[in-house]
Amino acid sequence: MSRLTRRDFLKISGAAATSLLPGCMTQPSAPAKPIGRVIVIGGGFGGATAAKYLRMWSEGAIEVVLIERNAEFISCPTSNLVLGGTRTMGDITRSYARLRDYGVQVIRDEATAIDVEKKRVSLKRIEDLPYDRLVVSPAVDFMHDQIEGYNPEAQKTIVHAWKAGPETVALRQQLEAMPDGGVYILSVPRAPYRCPPGPYERACQVAFYFKQAKPRSKVIILDANEDVVSKPALFKAAWNELYKGMIEYRGNSEAKAVDARAKTVKTTCSATPRFRRRRCPSRAIWRTTTASSPQPRSSSS
Ligand SMILES: Cc1cc2nc3c(=O)[nH]c(=O)nc-3n(C[C@H](O)[C@H](O)[C@H](O)COP(=O)(O)OP(=O)(O)OC[C@H]3O[C@@H](n4cnc5c(N)ncnc54)[C@H](O)[C@@H]3O)c2cc1C
Repeated sequence: MSRLTRRDFLKISGAAATSLLPGCMTQPSAPAKPIGRVIVIGGGFGGATAAKYLRMWSEGAIEVVLIERNAEFISCPTSNLVLGGTRTMGDITRSYARLRDYGVQVIRDEATAIDVEKKRVSLKRIEDLPYDRLVVSPAVDFMHDQIEGYNPEAQKTIVHAWKAGPETVALRQQLEAMPDGGVYILSVPRAPYRCPPGPYERACQVAFYFKQAKPRSKVIILDANEDVVSKPALFKAAWNELYKGMIEYRGNSEAKAVDARAKTVKTTCSATPRFRRRRCPSRAIWRTTTASSPQPRSSSS
């Protein structure tokens, strides 16, 4: 694919921004000459918020360019509700058009390198972009090598769905296709990992769906931690009162190996439970970097 020049791309995104403005109500008045350019890498909660407030608080004096690899924003926190069946992907997806209303230039691309000396960001699709200040907010990524057998082939069927998007849809479809009486295993990595309550919420949401559609089915939580790491009293009360006999919790049970064909998972416990549909996320660590001084991305971002 031929690379667009930076000027071409900014022209296109500027034109798109203009055509999306609803009466310019939220558009800060753009000064003839901006006092500088901030590039924001990553349009998640962190990057998108930083980009919006830089435009608002500078009253349009700062040019803000947001680099995001995805076309739309999909909310992770509400993705568990899609698994439970009370929300659709459409409900949890937002366009970046609203950011353009604030004058943020949103570029769909992937940042591949940062040259701190020259103050430039390299991108996959278009030419390098220069900046005066840089916000790096690409969040965390997975450490896939933590579980034996969780290779690229196994990942096709053992979807983690911790990044809201196609895997959320795939996991919901797997749950729907599961027979009544099936077992869904969800593994919780050793803390720290992104969103401590996330796995326990997910267990509740899946059980919520099972209770209505497959009441003989079961959720097994294999927790690498000794005990529930977030809001233990609240979650245990819900499991006992709302999903008694449906959610089984096993502490000190770190997933060590999976066999995607046999549909088994080995844990630090001696038991090797069989399962039909399972969740085995790799270990993830918090690694959000939001800084006004440039920082190189680490290789696992
Ligand atoms: C199931 C679940 C439930 C959760 N529940 C809650 C909750 O109730 N409350 C709460 O506060 N938090 C919750 N969280 C955590 C919350 O989602 C994260 O804390 C939050 O998304 C972090 O924001 P972020 O901007 O740092 O990262 P992200 O939202 O992950 O955004 C990072 C963005 O950077 C982009 N990106 C990465 N690398 C590049 C690159 N090289 N070039 C261009 N773009 C790039 C990605 O595409 C992504 O859009 C939950 C998470 C999950 C998975």
